Amino acid sequence: EGMTILELAKRTGASIGSLQEIMKNVGEKVDSEFDPISVDVAELVAMEVGVNVRRLHSDEGAVLQPRAPVVTVMGHVDHGKTSLLDALRQTSVAAKEAGGITQHLGAFVVDMPSGASITFLDTPGHAAFSAMRARGAAVTDIVVLVVAADDGVMPQTLEAISHAKAASVPIVVAINKCDKPSADPQRVRIQLGSEGLPLEDLGGDVQVVEVSATSKIGLDKLEEALLLQAEMMDLKARIDGPAQAYVVEARLDRGRGPLATAIVKSGTLLCGQHIVVGAAWGRIRTIRDMVGRATESGRPAMPVEIEGLKGLPMAGDDVTVVGSEERARMLSAGRKKKLEKDRLHKASEMTIDIPDASEEAPKRVELPIIIKADVQGTVQAVTDAVRSMNNAQVFVNVIHVGVGPISESDIDLAEACGACIVGFNIRNPPTAITNAANQANIKICLHRVIYHLLEEMGTYIIDKAPGTF
Ligand code: GDP
Repeated sequence: EGMTILELAKRTGASIGSLQEIMKNVGEKVDSEFDPISVDVAELVAMEVGVNVRRLHSDEGAVLQPRAPVVTVMGHVDHGKTSLLDALRQTSVAAKEAGGITQHLGAFVVDMPSGASITFLDTPGHAAFSAMRARGAAVTDIVVLVVAADDGVMPQTLEAISHAKAASVPIVVAINKCDKPSADPQRVRIQLGSEGLPLEDLGGDVQVVEVSATSKIGLDKLEEALLLQAEMMDLKARIDGPAQAYVVEARLDRGRGPLATAIVKSGTLLCGQHIVVGAAWGRIRTIRDMVGRATESGRPAMPVEIEGLKGLPMAGDDVTVVGSEERARMLSAGRKKKLEKDRLHKASEMTIDIPDASEEAPKRVELPIIIKADVQGTVQAVTDAVRSMNNAQVFVNVIHVGVGPISESDIDLAEACGACIVGFNIRNPPTAITNAANQANIKICLHRVIYHLLEEMGTYIIDKAPGTF
């Protein structure tokens, strides 16, 4: 496993000599540039030269086993996301065993009579979803889109669809509040269909289930739909070997210290292991399941509560198992230093993937874009105009469009996708939005003349994809 110094030099653009020097400084044995170094050391050294590292875990040759789907609930405010999660939580065997006492720990598992199970993330809404994605944590397999049957498709419904689409996560629609006399599920279907969601009833592959969270109707149907969707996705994970996991929630307990709820993506997390979680580190003292029982290990798709960290991680942080306490300390210190540096120079970020051997030909550069305009007609005109800038080297990918001012959610989505936001014929956004965009390094182009907009977009494209014009 790992890579050689030579490869690391190629990827980071740093000289072999300087990398060997850094290795010496962090107390690692310096070998020839052809000897493999461990992933931990590669990450440390890369961080020292200012390069971010994303670990690609190769499951090649490993035995893969089916795993439970991880589900996030999204939808418009007041359409019943929280109520639905509460109702689903009550259907879990574990909740019944615990006498209905359920806690909010970031995630919970519903065990089905068939033996299958589903893991639900307990933080509804797309803010959490995109915050996780912005940090590189692809945790969610399926999105449940909650739409109230009496209210129909609303702005945040459309935003949720855009978020799921941008992340290539399939949607299962739950039409909620079907107990209400004013419920009109058929109208919701038509609305969703005309928004381009290929519903099953209309020959597409998006399942629709009618539910009532408060009257507990259709919950079993929803769970079945999720399992069917999971089956179609053929979700599998490596069970053996070191775990890779993501934090979904972290909190400080007065007695037990920092506690992190994490979802294991692959491998098995074991008590006693040394871990680095984001910039925090520690040794796993106790692993607990979602009803608070201590267990020996955490397996794929299982939410576990980890006790034993020295610091408080953040949602979206990855959990990495390392060989020793010293490694854990070193990586944590390196990451802290890197975080600090990044805060100072947010713009000059560069990410490499390790280990990934193939040298690929330069790909078509994708530029994700969000378009906001004053009225529907303008939205369409601007979308068409911007798309006309596509060519063999550049793919302008319009990931979300909407009528109205630039919202906080637009900023979230832009940050998650690295998108720029185009505003046409709309008011200047409030300072809070502008500040948030600056902080996240998101470009906003505001114009009232299409020619000027295209001119700025042209400059943006040349900037992002040099040599394209
Ligand atoms: P969220 O903002 O999407 O999380 O929505 P909530 O779960 O907080 O629900 C908003 C309101 O809708 C609350 O007053 C709920 O009691 C109500 N509600 C949620 N689900 C249902 C349902 O299935 N039927 C009815 N009649 N009311 C519901």
